[in-house]
Amino acid sequence: MATPKLEWDTTMYRLAVAQLDKTAALIELDDNIWERLRTPQRALVVSFPFRRDNYVEVDTVFGYRVQHLLTMGPTKGGIRYDVGVDLGETTALAMWMTWKCAIMGLPFGGAKGGVRIDPRGFSEQELQRITRRYTSEIIDMIGPDRDIPAPDLGTNEQTMSWIMDTYSQQKGHAVPGVVTGKPIEIGGSLGRREATGRGVVTCVVESCRQLGLAIDGARVAVQGYGQVGGTAAKLAGELGARVVAVSDLHGGIHDPGGLDLGKVEAWHREHGSFRDYPGVDHVTNGELLELPCEILIPAAIQNQITHENADRIRCRILAEGANGPTTLEADEILWKKGVHVVPDILANAGGVTVSYFEWVQDAQQFFWTEEEVNGRLIQIMQRAYQDIAGLAGSRGIDLRTAAMMRGVRRVAEAKRRRGVFP
Ligand code: NAD
Repeated sequence: MATPKLEWDTTMYRLAVAQLDKTAALIELDDNIWERLRTPQRALVVSFPFRRDNYVEVDTVFGYRVQHLLTMGPTKGGIRYDVGVDLGETTALAMWMTWKCAIMGLPFGGAKGGVRIDPRGFSEQELQRITRRYTSEIIDMIGPDRDIPAPDLGTNEQTMSWIMDTYSQQKGHAVPGVVTGKPIEIGGSLGRREATGRGVVTCVVESCRQLGLAIDGARVAVQGYGQVGGTAAKLAGELGARVVAVSDLHGGIHDPGGLDLGKVEAWHREHGSFRDYPGVDHVTNGELLELPCEILIPAAIQNQITHENADRIRCRILAEGANGPTTLEADEILWKKGVHVVPDILANAGGVTVSYFEWVQDAQQFFWTEEEVNGRLIQIMQRAYQDIAGLAGSRGIDLRTAAMMRGVRRVAEAKRRRGVFP
Protein backbone atom coordinates (compact mmCIF):
# COMPACT_ATOMS: atom_id res chain seq x y z
CA MET A 1 0.00 0.00 0.00
CA ALA A 2 1.55 3.36 -1.04
CA THR A 3 1.78 5.84 1.82
CA PRO A 4 2.54 9.57 1.68
CA LYS A 5 5.32 10.91 3.92
CA LEU A 6 4.10 10.66 7.49
CA GLU A 7 5.09 12.86 10.42
CA TRP A 8 5.49 9.81 12.66
CA ASP A 9 7.61 7.79 10.21
CA THR A 10 10.53 6.40 12.29
CA THR A 11 12.22 3.00 12.62
CA MET A 12 9.97 1.97 15.49
CA TYR A 13 6.82 3.11 13.71
CA ARG A 14 7.90 1.13 10.64
CA LEU A 15 8.31 -1.99 12.80
CA ALA A 16 4.77 -1.63 14.18
CA VAL A 17 3.34 -1.05 10.69
CA ALA A 18 5.34 -3.94 9.18
CA GLN A 19 3.83 -6.25 11.81
CA LEU A 20 0.34 -4.95 10.99
CA ASP A 21 0.92 -5.27 7.22
CA LYS A 22 2.11 -8.86 7.58
CA THR A 23 -1.00 -9.70 9.61
CA ALA A 24 -3.39 -7.81 7.35
CA ALA A 25 -2.18 -9.78 4.34
CA LEU A 26 -2.61 -13.07 6.21
CA ILE A 27 -6.16 -12.40 7.36
CA GLU A 28 -7.16 -10.61 4.14
CA LEU A 29 -8.10 -7.50 6.09
CA ASP A 30 -10.49 -5.04 4.46
CA ASP A 31 -8.33 -2.39 2.71
CA ASN A 32 -10.14 0.58 4.25
CA ILE A 33 -9.78 -0.71 7.80
CA TRP A 34 -6.15 -1.63 7.10
CA GLU A 35 -5.36 1.89 5.94
CA ARG A 36 -7.05 3.45 8.98
CA LEU A 37 -5.19 1.19 11.42
CA ARG A 38 -1.74 2.09 10.02
CA THR A 39 -1.90 5.61 11.47
CA PRO A 40 -3.06 7.18 14.75
CA GLN A 41 -6.59 8.52 15.06
CA ARG A 42 -5.39 11.49 17.13
CA ALA A 43 -1.88 12.77 17.84
CA LEU A 44 -0.89 15.80 19.89
CA VAL A 45 2.60 17.31 20.04
CA VAL A 46 3.23 19.99 22.64
CA SER A 47 6.24 22.03 23.67
CA PHE A 48 6.15 23.56 27.10
CA PRO A 49 8.41 25.38 29.54
CA PHE A 50 9.18 24.55 33.16
CA ARG A 51 11.27 26.23 35.81
CA ARG A 52 14.54 24.70 36.98
CA ASP A 53 15.11 24.54 40.72
CA ASN A 54 17.11 27.77 40.80
CA TYR A 55 13.96 29.57 39.57
CA VAL A 56 16.12 31.54 37.14
CA GLU A 57 16.41 29.12 34.22
CA VAL A 58 13.41 27.98 32.21
CA ASP A 59 13.77 24.94 29.93
CA THR A 60 11.44 23.95 27.12
CA VAL A 61 10.71 20.29 26.36
CA PHE A 62 8.53 18.27 23.95
CA GLY A 63 5.57 16.16 25.03
CA TYR A 64 3.31 13.76 23.09
CA ARG A 65 0.00 11.97 23.42
CA VAL A 66 -1.22 9.64 20.70
CA GLN A 67 -4.55 7.78 20.54
CA HIS A 68 -4.40 5.05 17.95
CA LEU A 69 -8.00 3.85 17.99
CA LEU A 70 -11.18 5.18 19.60
CA THR A 71 -13.47 2.38 18.43
CA MET A 72 -13.27 0.01 21.39
CA GLY A 73 -13.91 2.39 24.32
CA PRO A 74 -11.65 4.88 26.04
CA THR A 75 -7.99 4.70 25.06
CA LYS A 76 -5.32 3.42 27.41
CA GLY A 77 -1.54 3.61 27.46
CA GLY A 78 1.51 4.53 29.47
CA ILE A 79 3.52 7.72 29.72
CA ARG A 80 7.23 7.47 29.04
CA TYR A 81 9.99 9.85 30.13
CA ASP A 82 13.02 9.13 27.95
CA VAL A 83 15.39 10.96 25.59
CA GLY A 84 14.25 8.69 22.74
CA VAL A 85 10.58 9.74 22.95
CA ASP A 86 9.25 11.10 19.64
CA LEU A 87 6.06 10.98 17.63
CA GLY A 88 7.05 7.77 15.82
CA GLU A 89 7.91 5.87 19.00
CA THR A 90 4.75 7.09 20.75
CA THR A 91 2.63 6.08 17.76
CA ALA A 92 4.17 2.59 17.55
CA LEU A 93 3.62 2.05 21.27
CA ALA A 94 0.00 3.24 20.95
CA MET A 95 -0.60 0.74 18.12
CA TRP A 96 0.81 -2.11 20.20
CA MET A 97 -1.52 -1.07 23.03
CA THR A 98 -4.48 -1.46 20.67
CA TRP A 99 -3.58 -5.05 19.81
CA LYS A 100 -2.69 -5.85 23.43
CA CYS A 101 -6.07 -4.67 24.76
CA ALA A 102 -7.90 -6.55 21.97
CA ILE A 103 -6.01 -9.79 22.65
CA MET A 104 -6.85 -9.59 26.35
CA GLY A 105 -10.49 -8.68 25.61
CA LEU A 106 -10.25 -5.32 27.43
CA PRO A 107 -12.67 -2.51 26.48
CA PHE A 108 -9.94 -0.06 25.43
CA GLY A 109 -8.20 1.24 22.33
CA GLY A 110 -4.47 1.94 22.36
CA ALA A 111 -2.77 5.19 23.36
CA LYS A 112 0.67 6.27 24.53
CA GLY A 113 2.34 9.46 25.70
CA GLY A 114 5.66 10.78 26.76
CA VAL A 115 8.05 13.62 27.37
CA ARG A 116 11.46 13.77 25.69
CA ILE A 117 13.68 14.10 28.76
CA ASP A 118 16.18 12.02 30.67
CA PRO A 119 14.36 11.88 34.04
CA ARG A 120 17.61 11.17 35.87
CA GLY A 121 18.80 14.66 34.97
CA PHE A 122 16.10 16.38 37.03
CA SER A 123 15.23 16.77 40.69
CA GLU A 124 11.98 15.43 42.13
CA GLN A 125 10.56 18.97 42.19
CA GLU A 126 11.51 19.58 38.57
CA LEU A 127 9.88 16.28 37.56
CA GLN A 128 6.76 17.34 39.41
CA ARG A 129 6.63 20.66 37.53
CA ILE A 130 7.23 18.90 34.19
CA THR A 131 4.49 16.35 34.93
CA ARG A 132 1.92 18.92 36.03
CA ARG A 133 2.55 21.16 33.02
CA TYR A 134 2.51 18.20 30.63
CA THR A 135 -0.80 17.09 32.15
CA SER A 136 -2.36 20.49 31.68
CA GLU A 137 -1.14 20.56 28.04
CA ILE A 138 -2.88 17.24 27.24
CA ILE A 139 -5.81 17.69 29.63
CA ASP A 140 -8.49 17.87 26.93
CA MET A 141 -7.45 14.47 25.61
CA ILE A 142 -7.50 12.52 28.88
CA GLY A 143 -10.20 11.50 31.37
CA PRO A 144 -11.68 8.29 32.82
CA ASP A 145 -14.08 8.00 29.85
CA ARG A 146 -11.62 9.30 27.26
CA ASP A 147 -8.03 8.23 27.69
CA ILE A 148 -6.36 6.81 30.79
CA PRO A 149 -2.56 7.09 31.19
CA ALA A 150 -0.40 4.72 33.25
CA PRO A 151 3.31 4.42 34.09
CA ASP A 152 5.92 3.33 31.55
CA LEU A 153 9.68 3.67 31.21
CA GLY A 154 10.95 6.47 33.49
CA THR A 155 7.60 7.14 35.21
CA ASN A 156 6.07 5.58 38.30
CA GLU A 157 3.31 5.76 40.93
CA GLN A 158 4.43 9.25 41.98
CA THR A 159 4.14 10.53 38.41
CA MET A 160 0.59 9.13 38.27
CA SER A 161 -0.28 10.87 41.57
CA TRP A 162 0.79 14.25 40.15
CA ILE A 163 -1.25 13.67 36.99
CA MET A 164 -4.29 12.62 39.03
CA ASP A 165 -3.93 15.66 41.29
CA THR A 166 -3.47 18.13 38.42
CA TYR A 167 -6.49 16.73 36.57
CA SER A 168 -8.62 16.70 39.74
CA GLN A 169 -7.69 20.31 40.56
CA GLN A 170 -8.99 21.35 37.14
CA LYS A 171 -12.25 19.42 37.56
CA GLY A 172 -12.85 20.56 41.15
CA HIS A 173 -13.20 17.06 42.59
CA ALA A 174 -11.08 13.92 42.94
CA VAL A 175 -10.99 11.86 39.75
CA PRO A 176 -8.97 8.72 40.60
CA GLY A 177 -10.01 6.94 37.36
CA VAL A 178 -8.05 9.34 35.14
CA VAL A 179 -4.85 7.31 35.59
CA THR A 180 -3.93 3.79 36.64
CA GLY A 181 -0.79 2.60 38.38
CA LYS A 182 -1.52 5.04 41.24
CA PRO A 183 -0.58 4.54 44.88
CA ILE A 184 -3.15 2.53 46.87
CA GLU A 185 -3.96 5.57 49.06
CA ILE A 186 -5.55 7.46 46.16
CA GLY A 187 -7.39 4.62 44.42
CA GLY A 188 -4.63 2.38 43.13
CA SER A 189 -5.03 -1.38 42.90
CA LEU A 190 -3.24 -3.98 44.94
CA GLY A 191 -1.01 -6.05 42.67
CA ARG A 192 -0.64 -3.37 39.96
CA ARG A 193 3.06 -2.74 40.57
CA GLU A 194 3.91 -6.42 40.06
CA ALA A 195 1.26 -7.06 37.39
CA THR A 196 3.41 -6.80 34.25
CA GLY A 197 6.17 -8.97 35.71
CA ARG A 198 3.58 -11.44 36.99
CA GLY A 199 2.03 -11.63 33.54
CA VAL A 200 5.44 -12.24 31.94
CA VAL A 201 6.16 -15.06 34.38
CA THR A 202 2.68 -16.56 33.83
CA CYS A 203 3.49 -16.72 30.09
CA VAL A 204 6.88 -18.30 30.90
CA VAL A 205 5.17 -20.96 33.02
CA GLU A 206 2.64 -21.69 30.25
CA SER A 207 5.45 -21.85 27.68
CA CYS A 208 7.41 -24.29 29.86
CA ARG A 209 4.31 -26.46 30.19
CA GLN A 210 3.79 -26.41 26.41
CA LEU A 211 7.44 -27.24 25.65
CA GLY A 212 7.79 -29.81 28.43
CA LEU A 213 10.51 -27.79 30.15
CA ALA A 214 10.81 -27.70 33.95
CA ILE A 215 10.70 -24.19 35.43
CA ASP A 216 12.40 -25.56 38.53
CA GLY A 217 16.12 -24.99 38.03
CA ALA A 218 15.69 -23.33 34.60
CA ARG A 219 18.27 -20.60 33.99
CA VAL A 220 16.75 -17.12 33.57
CA ALA A 221 18.46 -13.95 32.29
CA VAL A 222 16.68 -10.61 32.67
CA GLN A 223 17.65 -7.39 30.88
CA GLY A 224 16.32 -4.32 32.76
CA TYR A 225 15.84 -4.28 36.51
CA GLY A 226 12.87 -1.90 36.81
CA GLN A 227 9.22 -2.45 37.58
CA VAL A 228 8.89 -5.21 34.98
CA GLY A 229 12.32 -6.91 35.02
CA GLY A 230 12.85 -6.68 38.77
CA THR A 231 9.46 -8.29 39.47
CA ALA A 232 9.87 -10.95 36.77
CA ALA A 233 13.24 -11.97 38.25
CA LYS A 234 11.79 -12.15 41.76
CA LEU A 235 8.71 -14.18 40.76
CA ALA A 236 10.72 -16.55 38.55
CA GLY A 237 13.06 -17.12 41.50
CA GLU A 238 10.09 -17.85 43.77
CA LEU A 239 8.99 -20.57 41.33
CA GLY A 240 12.36 -22.28 41.63
CA ALA A 241 14.02 -20.92 38.50
CA ARG A 242 17.71 -20.03 38.71
CA VAL A 243 18.11 -16.34 37.84
CA VAL A 244 21.64 -16.23 36.44
CA ALA A 245 21.81 -12.65 35.14
CA VAL A 246 20.18 -9.24 35.63
CA SER A 247 21.08 -5.78 34.32
CA ASP A 248 20.12 -2.15 34.32
CA LEU A 249 21.06 0.79 32.12
CA HIS A 250 24.69 0.66 33.31
CA GLY A 251 25.27 -3.07 32.73
CA GLY A 252 24.65 -6.40 34.38
CA ILE A 253 25.91 -9.24 36.54
CA HIS A 254 26.13 -12.95 35.79
CA ASP A 255 26.52 -16.01 38.01
CA PRO A 256 25.99 -19.38 36.26
CA GLY A 257 25.21 -20.92 39.66
CA GLY A 258 22.31 -18.50 40.21
CA LEU A 259 22.21 -15.06 41.86
CA ASP A 260 21.11 -14.47 45.44
CA LEU A 261 18.09 -12.32 44.57
CA GLY A 262 17.62 -10.91 48.09
CA LYS A 263 21.20 -9.65 48.06
CA VAL A 264 20.87 -8.35 44.50
CA GLU A 265 17.73 -6.38 45.41
CA ALA A 266 19.27 -4.89 48.56
CA TRP A 267 22.45 -3.93 46.67
CA HIS A 268 20.57 -2.27 43.82
CA ARG A 269 18.35 -0.36 46.23
CA GLU A 270 21.36 0.94 48.11
CA HIS A 271 23.75 1.62 45.20
CA GLY A 272 21.39 2.32 42.29
CA SER A 273 23.42 0.08 39.94
CA PHE A 274 25.27 -3.26 39.81
CA ARG A 275 28.71 -1.68 39.49
CA ASP A 276 31.17 -3.22 41.97
CA TYR A 277 28.72 -5.99 42.94
CA PRO A 278 31.09 -8.63 44.35
CA GLY A 279 31.68 -12.27 43.42
CA VAL A 280 30.03 -12.31 39.96
CA ASP A 281 30.95 -11.74 36.29
CA HIS A 282 30.10 -8.26 35.07
CA VAL A 283 28.50 -8.21 31.62
CA THR A 284 27.26 -5.57 29.21
CA ASN A 285 23.59 -5.44 28.24
CA GLY A 286 24.54 -6.92 24.86
CA GLU A 287 26.47 -9.79 26.44
CA LEU A 288 23.60 -10.60 28.79
CA LEU A 289 21.31 -11.33 25.84
CA GLU A 290 23.75 -13.92 24.49
CA LEU A 291 24.28 -15.85 27.74
CA PRO A 292 23.34 -19.54 27.73
CA CYS A 293 19.97 -19.88 29.50
CA GLU A 294 16.57 -21.50 29.11
CA ILE A 295 14.57 -18.28 29.57
CA LEU A 296 15.52 -14.80 28.40
CA ILE A 297 13.41 -11.80 29.47
CA PRO A 298 14.25 -8.49 27.79
CA ALA A 299 12.53 -5.96 30.08
CA ALA A 300 14.26 -2.66 29.33
CA ILE A 301 13.85 -0.96 25.97
CA GLN A 302 13.07 -1.64 22.31
CA ASN A 303 15.34 -2.81 19.51
CA GLN A 304 17.62 -5.06 21.53
CA ILE A 305 17.48 -8.28 19.47
CA THR A 306 18.22 -7.51 15.85
CA HIS A 307 19.58 -9.28 12.75
CA GLU A 308 23.06 -8.60 14.20
CA ASN A 309 22.75 -10.65 17.40
CA ALA A 310 19.68 -12.89 16.86
CA ASP A 311 21.82 -15.77 15.67
CA ARG A 312 23.81 -15.70 18.93
CA ILE A 313 20.77 -15.81 21.22
CA ARG A 314 20.96 -19.10 23.14
CA CYS A 315 17.72 -19.26 25.11
CA ARG A 316 14.83 -21.67 24.58
CA ILE A 317 12.08 -19.22 25.58
CA LEU A 318 12.22 -15.48 24.93
CA ALA A 319 9.47 -13.66 26.84
CA GLU A 320 9.24 -9.98 25.88
CA GLY A 321 8.70 -7.86 28.99
CA ALA A 322 9.72 -4.70 27.12
CA ASN A 323 7.78 -3.30 24.20
CA GLY A 324 9.38 -3.93 20.80
CA PRO A 325 12.67 -5.55 21.91
CA THR A 326 12.84 -7.79 18.80
CA THR A 327 13.01 -6.58 15.20
CA LEU A 328 11.14 -8.27 12.36
CA GLU A 329 14.37 -9.66 10.87
CA ALA A 330 15.41 -11.05 14.26
CA ASP A 331 11.99 -12.67 14.63
CA GLU A 332 12.58 -14.70 11.48
CA ILE A 333 16.05 -15.80 12.60
CA LEU A 334 14.72 -16.83 16.04
CA TRP A 335 11.83 -18.74 14.45
CA LYS A 336 14.28 -20.72 12.29
CA LYS A 337 16.42 -21.41 15.36
CA GLY A 338 13.38 -22.78 17.18
CA VAL A 339 13.35 -20.11 19.91
CA HIS A 340 9.89 -19.85 21.48
CA VAL A 341 9.18 -16.10 21.39
CA VAL A 342 6.29 -14.87 23.54
CA PRO A 343 5.54 -11.47 21.99
CA ASP A 344 5.28 -8.23 23.96
CA ILE A 345 1.60 -7.73 23.12
CA LEU A 346 0.88 -10.95 25.01
CA ALA A 347 3.77 -11.32 27.48
CA ASN A 348 3.60 -7.83 28.99
CA ALA A 349 -0.20 -7.44 28.84
CA GLY A 350 -0.51 -8.14 32.58
CA GLY A 351 0.13 -4.45 33.27
CA VAL A 352 -2.79 -3.14 31.25
CA THR A 353 -4.98 -5.99 32.53
CA VAL A 354 -4.56 -4.95 36.16
CA SER A 355 -4.81 -1.31 35.06
CA TYR A 356 -8.23 -2.30 33.75
CA PHE A 357 -9.01 -3.86 37.16
CA GLU A 358 -7.91 -0.60 38.81
CA TRP A 359 -10.15 1.48 36.52
CA VAL A 360 -13.11 -0.81 37.29
CA GLN A 361 -12.43 -0.60 41.05
CA ASP A 362 -12.20 3.22 40.87
CA ALA A 363 -15.50 3.43 38.97
CA GLN A 364 -17.24 1.21 41.54
CA GLN A 365 -15.35 2.55 44.57
CA PHE A 366 -15.15 -1.09 45.60
CA PHE A 367 -11.69 -2.55 46.05
CA TRP A 368 -10.47 -6.12 45.65
CA THR A 369 -8.01 -8.12 47.71
CA GLU A 370 -4.55 -8.84 46.33
CA GLU A 371 -5.47 -12.52 45.95
CA GLU A 372 -8.50 -11.58 43.84
CA VAL A 373 -6.40 -9.30 41.62
CA ASN A 374 -3.58 -11.83 41.13
CA GLY A 375 -5.97 -14.74 40.66
CA ARG A 376 -8.00 -12.95 37.97
CA LEU A 377 -4.83 -11.74 36.26
CA ILE A 378 -3.32 -15.21 36.07
CA GLN A 379 -6.59 -16.66 34.82
CA ILE A 380 -6.90 -14.05 32.02
CA MET A 381 -3.21 -14.42 31.06
CA GLN A 382 -3.46 -18.21 30.92
CA ARG A 383 -6.59 -18.04 28.81
CA ALA A 384 -5.01 -15.55 26.39
CA TYR A 385 -1.79 -17.59 26.17
CA GLN A 386 -3.64 -20.83 25.46
CA ASP A 387 -5.87 -19.16 22.90
CA ILE A 388 -2.88 -17.67 21.02
CA ALA A 389 -0.76 -20.83 21.35
CA GLY A 390 -3.69 -22.89 20.03
CA LEU A 391 -4.08 -20.61 17.01
CA ALA A 392 -0.31 -20.63 16.38
CA GLY A 393 -0.20 -24.43 16.60
CA SER A 394 -3.16 -24.98 14.29
CA ARG A 395 -1.77 -22.62 11.64
CA GLY A 396 1.92 -23.49 12.04
CA ILE A 397 2.83 -19.86 12.75
CA ASP A 398 4.75 -18.08 15.49
CA LEU A 399 3.05 -16.62 18.57
CA ARG A 400 3.53 -13.00 17.48
CA THR A 401 1.76 -13.58 14.18
CA ALA A 402 -1.03 -15.47 15.97
CA ALA A 403 -1.40 -12.75 18.61
CA MET A 404 -1.49 -10.05 15.93
CA MET A 405 -4.10 -12.00 13.99
CA ARG A 406 -6.30 -12.29 17.07
CA GLY A 407 -5.91 -8.62 18.02
CA VAL A 408 -6.35 -7.13 14.55
CA ARG A 409 -9.36 -9.36 13.79
CA ARG A 410 -11.18 -8.25 16.96
CA VAL A 411 -10.55 -4.60 16.18
CA ALA A 412 -11.53 -4.99 12.52
CA GLU A 413 -14.77 -6.71 13.47
CA ALA A 414 -15.66 -3.90 15.91
CA LYS A 415 -14.92 -1.29 13.24
CA ARG A 416 -17.04 -3.15 10.71
CA ARG A 417 -19.96 -3.34 13.19
CA ARG A 418 -19.76 0.36 14.03
CA GLY A 419 -19.51 1.42 10.37
CA VAL A 420 -18.24 4.71 8.99
CA PHE A 421 -19.52 8.09 10.20
CA PRO A 422 -21.34 9.93 8.64
P1 NAD B 1 11.48 1.10 34.55
O1 NAD B 1 11.85 2.50 34.26
O2 NAD B 1 10.88 0.74 35.86
O3 NAD B 1 12.76 0.12 34.36
C1 NAD B 1 13.51 0.09 33.19
C2 NAD B 1 14.80 -0.69 33.43
O4 NAD B 1 15.53 -0.77 32.19
C3 NAD B 1 15.75 -0.05 34.43
O5 NAD B 1 16.46 -1.05 35.15
C4 NAD B 1 16.71 0.74 33.55
O6 NAD B 1 17.97 0.97 34.19
C5 NAD B 1 16.82 -0.20 32.38
N1 NAD B 1 17.20 0.49 31.14
C6 NAD B 1 16.79 1.71 30.70
N2 NAD B 1 17.39 2.01 29.53
C7 NAD B 1 18.18 0.95 29.23
C8 NAD B 1 19.07 0.67 28.15
N3 NAD B 1 19.28 1.57 27.18
N4 NAD B 1 19.72 -0.53 28.16
C9 NAD B 1 19.52 -1.42 29.15
N5 NAD B 1 18.71 -1.20 30.21
C10 NAD B 1 18.06 -0.02 30.24
O7 NAD B 1 10.52 0.68 33.33
P2 NAD B 1 9.47 -0.50 33.29
O8 NAD B 1 8.15 0.06 33.67
O9 NAD B 1 10.02 -1.68 33.99
O10 NAD B 1 9.39 -0.78 31.72
C11 NAD B 1 10.36 -1.60 31.06
C12 NAD B 1 9.82 -1.99 29.70
O11 NAD B 1 8.58 -2.69 29.89
C13 NAD B 1 9.49 -0.85 28.75
O12 NAD B 1 9.77 -1.28 27.42
C14 NAD B 1 8.01 -0.65 28.92
O13 NAD B 1 7.41 -0.08 27.78
C15 NAD B 1 7.56 -2.09 29.11
N6 NAD B 1 6.28 -2.23 29.80
C16 NAD B 1 6.08 -1.74 31.06
C17 NAD B 1 4.85 -1.93 31.69
C18 NAD B 1 4.60 -1.47 33.10
O14 NAD B 1 3.53 -1.80 33.64
N7 NAD B 1 5.52 -0.78 33.74
C19 NAD B 1 3.81 -2.58 31.01
C20 NAD B 1 4.04 -3.08 29.72
C21 NAD B 1 5.29 -2.89 29.14
